[in-house]
Amino acid sequence: WRPTCECNTCYIGSDCSVLLSNCSADVDSGDPLFLEPYWMQHAAKGAVVLSGWHRMSYSTTDHFKSLELENHIRLLHAAVGNAITDGKYLVFGTGSTQLINALVYALSPENTSSPASVVATVPYYPMYKEQTELFNGRDYEWEGATAKWRNSNKTNFVEFVTSPNNPDCLLCDSVLGGSSVIYDHAYYWPHFTAIPEPADGDAMIFTVSKLSGHAGSRFGWAFIKDENVYNKVSNYLQYNSMGASRDTQSRIFNYVKVILAEIGSNADIFEFGFNKLRKRWQRLQALVNSSSRFSLQQLSPQYCTYFKKIRDPSPAYAWLKCENEEDADCAEVLMKGGIISRGGTKFGSSTQYTRLSLLKTDDNFEMLLQKFKPLVASSDENT
Ligand code: PMP
Repeated sequence: WRPTCECNTCYIGSDCSVLLSNCSADVDSGDPLFLEPYWMQHAAKGAVVLSGWHRMSYSTTDHFKSLELENHIRLLHAAVGNAITDGKYLVFGTGSTQLINALVYALSPENTSSPASVVATVPYYPMYKEQTELFNGRDYEWEGATAKWRNSNKTNFVEFVTSPNNPDCLLCDSVLGGSSVIYDHAYYWPHFTAIPEPADGDAMIFTVSKLSGHAGSRFGWAFIKDENVYNKVSNYLQYNSMGASRDTQSRIFNYVKVILAEIGSNADIFEFGFNKLRKRWQRLQALVNSSSRFSLQQLSPQYCTYFKKIRDPSPAYAWLKCENEEDADCAEVLMKGGIISRGGTKFGSSTQYTRLSLLKTDDNFEMLLQKFKPLVASSDENT
């Protein structure tokens, strides 16, 4: 029994089982709260206590970086098999969000009459465009979709490759030959995708937000092959924020240590995350496939070197398409049905598409299914 006042805002009743009909299913953001129950189940291991006199200084073991954390991040990648880190420099950022522009800046030529063209393949994560336009640097400019440049003679690109991609969760590679590539591997962990081989890009971004779920800690990292690029990124971080929070580094060190120690055990976070997201995907897919009004991105089972077997898809997002002409604005169709999603135009795509986050709480996902059911049923009545 739980008192009514502790119910999720959308539920009432003595056991919180009555869903308020005017409550929307908010599946807009990629808030990774699907991992909250994991840390509740491992409450003692996840707890971090910092004394008042700890981490007061600007300095850490390696200037602004905890070397212990650096070593554990490298060990984690080796254990998961998702990245080759030998011979690459490591930088820490205030979320991987900070590293996006740091790398654009570092990979662009200085004092040139032809600035670098920053591009990504549609549908792309909106932050690349938003940040590039916001910072409006002299040495780079947002030039939109790679499709526009495929047959041009233009060079000097900085290409974002998000693999698996946000929003459609497909594994991707660079499409413009000869460009500098920033690989965003935020979702290249076994919760979200098969790991066919370790990633080995010259500039690779990762984030704890999607690894452990601690998005609020604001911590990301990047591996960088080239020393000059690394020096430029380090300068950027020094002048921009003087490095990632030392408190955060302490907290993240603990989580990486727990995650590493539990690999292969029955408290393996990747197993937990994979099982949860696979089930969510299967349930949503069954519902979507029950009518012809909507469709989802096509994902197939694939061999995973981490689980050492062929595994089902377990994507972070559903990239939903409205198939009917009268449903021209898919996000709007869902909104009318009480589902808040992220419309396709944000990703450089069309209003026919919208993104549903599968990363939030169980309550949130159940609400999504509840609100989705009538949308599917009403389409059957029309056909
Ligand atoms: N890259 C991608 C592809 C993302 O989806 C996100 C978060 N939604 C980020 C980067 C940023 O993550 P953070 O700043 O929380 O590390």
